[in-house]
Amino acid sequence: MTCPGSRMFIAPFLVTVLLLLMPLSAMASPAAVSVGLSVGACKAVFSAPGGQISLKSASGGKASFRSGVSIEAVSPGVIRAGSVKLKLPVSISGNALMKWNDRPYRGHFKLTQQGGAFNVINVLGIEDYLKGVLKMEVNPAWPLESLKAQAIIARTYALRNKNRHGSSGFDLCALNHCQVYRGVNAEDPVLSKAVDLTRGIVLRYQGAYAATFYHADSGGHTADVSSVWGSSIPYLIGKPEPQKYQSPYSNWQVSMGLSEIQNILASKGVRVGNLTGIAVSSRDSAGRAVNLTLTGTGGQTTIKASQFRTMIGPDRVRSTFFTIGGNSPGDPLPMPTCAPGPANEESPPLSAKDEQMLIAFTQQGVFNTEELMDMLIKPQRRGFYLRKALEKQSGVGVPVKATSSAPSFAGGRVTFTGRGWGHGVGLSQWGAKSLAEAGWDCKRILKHYFPGTVLSRLSN
Ligand SMILES: [Zn+2]
Repeated sequence: MTCPGSRMFIAPFLVTVLLLLMPLSAMASPAAVSVGLSVGACKAVFSAPGGQISLKSASGGKASFRSGVSIEAVSPGVIRAGSVKLKLPVSISGNALMKWNDRPYRGHFKLTQQGGAFNVINVLGIEDYLKGVLKMEVNPAWPLESLKAQAIIARTYALRNKNRHGSSGFDLCALNHCQVYRGVNAEDPVLSKAVDLTRGIVLRYQGAYAATFYHADSGGHTADVSSVWGSSIPYLIGKPEPQKYQSPYSNWQVSMGLSEIQNILASKGVRVGNLTGIAVSSRDSAGRAVNLTLTGTGGQTTIKASQFRTMIGPDRVRSTFFTIGGNSPGDPLPMPTCAPGPANEESPPLSAKDEQMLIAFTQQGVFNTEELMDMLIKPQRRGFYLRKALEKQSGVGVPVKATSSAPSFAGGRVTFTGRGWGHGVGLSQWGAKSLAEAGWDCKRILKHYFPGTVLSRLSN
């Protein structure tokens, strides 16, 4: 990163330059985070209306300014603040709320070298940081307990991901990649209350910060992390929503041309010649697509449904809870989740293939409500029901892809009909909202979505 030459730069509102020894704000405590606001900046304006700004270089140089200062990169590792040159890294603190490029931020700033430019970093306490984050994640009008759950999740996420951008000199970026952070402008009194009421509380699993994934809407059943990202995490398992709810994402449908899908996939390195068909080749226990088979003139390949969704665009194919064709996926199969480990003493657990067959039969409506309830209450009887269904079908097993209505690709188009929005792992925001409305507190909500984790308070 380079910046335009070292032209003389006159700060428009620089009043005085005071080469005084100014006390800097306290060094970052363990409960502080550093957030990268701008990477490779050439210019920046810092102000502290009604106050004073102090700059301190790690190599010893210092400068103070009343109200504000404009800063410019002059050469690799060197900035000019007003008429003073300072070596990076430089800390910037103020005795009033400071603004960077007219946007207010709590805490203080740090500038670090980025080639011939600099990075602008906001260093602040974790609680203040969360107040600048939460509005981008939740709606302040939602029930307080769901907002508190989200505050705990965001706090845990930030601390678990500290140093994620260590090579650039900060912990977290201010974008979607980490958590969207907008400083004081994004603060909201209700969300600040949710942060204050959960101050220092995080979610841990076996002592470590838990991986607090969340998504907008599970569509009725959360996803097992292993079916989305491969590795298995004990507290990120697929679970049915405790109660039904409606969200703007409960049902969706998207239609796309096979050629468009083919072009997108090819640009990501997935090629089957001319794409002629797509089928769901396996589903998880809830009915969520896990693998897709793509058929083309050049052959066939299998791709993870979550990968497919990411490639096509997670805002178009909103979840992997879809069928191909015009039919909406059925209600998620209620699977026992609270049965203690070796509950199936009467018969061995079903194999993955048997599970899939059972799900296929369920989706075909082979079982009535009473039978489904019986399986839910007595999971050990699922083998019995599977055999019964197989007998009904003259012993012919049903491959999973037969559960979707045979997809037709009329006009070279394919229609995905689905439920929910997001990867489905961890907490469902619309699910949490509905549970808070039903009187669940944040602790109970988090215990449901992250079973086996515990809430604990930071030690400082
Ligand atoms: Zn990031």
